Amino acid sequence: MNNIPVVLILFGGSGDLAHRKLYPALYNLYHKNLIHDHFGVIATARRPWSHDYLRQQVTQAVFENNDDVDEQEVKEFASHFYYQSHDVTHVDHYIALKDLASELDEKYQAQGNRIFYMAMAPRFFGTIATHIHDQNLTGSGFNRLVVEKPFGRDLKSAEELNKEIRASFDEDSIYRIDHYLGKEMVQNIMPLRMTNPIVKNIWNNNFVQNVQVTLAESLGVGTRGGYYETSGALRDMVQNHIFQIITLLAMPEPENLTADAIHKAKQDLLASLQIPGLDDIKKHFARGQYCAGATTPAYLEEDQVDPNSTVETFAAGQVKFNAGPLAGVPIYFRTGKEMKEKISRIDIVLKHMNNLYGTAHSNNISIIIDPTSEIYFTINGKKISTDGLRREILDYTFSKQEMGQVPDGYERLLHDVFVADSTNFTHWAELKRYWEFVDAVEDGWRKLDGEGDKPESYAPMAFGPKSANDIFDNPKEHWIYR
Ligand code: NAD
Repeated sequence: MNNIPVVLILFGGSGDLAHRKLYPALYNLYHKNLIHDHFGVIATARRPWSHDYLRQQVTQAVFENNDDVDEQEVKEFASHFYYQSHDVTHVDHYIALKDLASELDEKYQAQGNRIFYMAMAPRFFGTIATHIHDQNLTGSGFNRLVVEKPFGRDLKSAEELNKEIRASFDEDSIYRIDHYLGKEMVQNIMPLRMTNPIVKNIWNNNFVQNVQVTLAESLGVGTRGGYYETSGALRDMVQNHIFQIITLLAMPEPENLTADAIHKAKQDLLASLQIPGLDDIKKHFARGQYCAGATTPAYLEEDQVDPNSTVETFAAGQVKFNAGPLAGVPIYFRTGKEMKEKISRIDIVLKHMNNLYGTAHSNNISIIIDPTSEIYFTINGKKISTDGLRREILDYTFSKQEMGQVPDGYERLLHDVFVADSTNFTHWAELKRYWEFVDAVEDGWRKLDGEGDKPESYAPMAFGPKSANDIFDNPKEHWIYR
């Protein structure tokens, strides 16, 4: 679909996300002619910028992100941007915003279509949604709302936020962004599972021993200590990215590839999610805090961090479902900061098979999401010229050229918003289940805090605390990526 008419109102137009991701993504959509003559963008933030200054910033953001751009085209693109200095807590600014939106609607013949994008600190989401409603900022065409993460900090606050948003937007018009769902290899999970007999036929609890999801970061919290103190690894990474990946891995095959069918498959699976009790949390979960490295501070010494904080910078645990192809199969996850390397990967570990050769290793299917795009199978083969088995790897790695063709997650997801495809966004029913799980683990950890059981400290440049190796159902299981 070409040239979708729309006025986009961006809250947080001077922020990091807008500069690094959203302006370059919008430019790519403009370059591909998805948005062209009939679009205008109003960027709002507190700083007293002019329209011209915003356009300079937008131009700079595009050049920083793209080696090969046509200067004239960027100039035309930037001319569609308007700035409004705006404190989102002040009601009078919404009146000015409404007037400017109507003006642009007419100027660009945008047919009353509006997209509202909340790219600001989450504490403002509810306030903005309420003002959009009270000041009647929605247009006469379609109205869509894009919300960044985190969506609440527990189920209760997420429910309150959802209520505030639902006053102006239907569930179908709310796009809760999880940028992991825009990643190439995350989008590759369904085709890998569903189009290859070699994979499809073993993707069940007869063959899969366990699944391991690792989202590791090599840096500490840096300047974001204040935010992290209100979050921790479980809320920051598990409630959204890790759970969405797990859902794609464990859901039954949808009836077809429509957004509705895919969300239904996810929700059918999530209805069978086992919510862990305190015993499960003690046995199958681990949490840690990084200590100082040779040149890096400990979490407890970071700026804006309480020196007695029990907030975890590493979380590992187990997820199980009662339904779906992987019913009963343990799905392990781990995520943390100051780890050995920055890597996002999934490892599917298959059960050992009785065989004529005695001991054989497991077969594994590994999907590397970042920093490369790669799928490899680990299988057994004969040692060259002697008896015995050795491990072989069948590898499909994207070439440099293919990597260059992969669109950024934000470009893909923004495109989906323009064409009203909600497949790769988080539905409220999914989010609710994720929070129920995370709240149960948080409650368990608060009880353990009360018993003096605190996060275990771990050295940087490893894969978290020792206790992360003790969460498995079976003592023979272990993290296969170490
Ligand atoms: P940021 O701090 O860089 O930008 C925040 C923006 O909000 C700025 O434009 C600021 O001027 C504006 N702002 C703050 N208070 C305001 C007020 N009272 N009235 C009007 N404007 C105000 O934040 P960011 O890194 O761009 O993150 C924005 C959102 O995107 C957050 O929800 C974050 O979790 C999410 N996010 C960011 C990234 C990223 O890479 N930066 C990645 C994923 C998700």
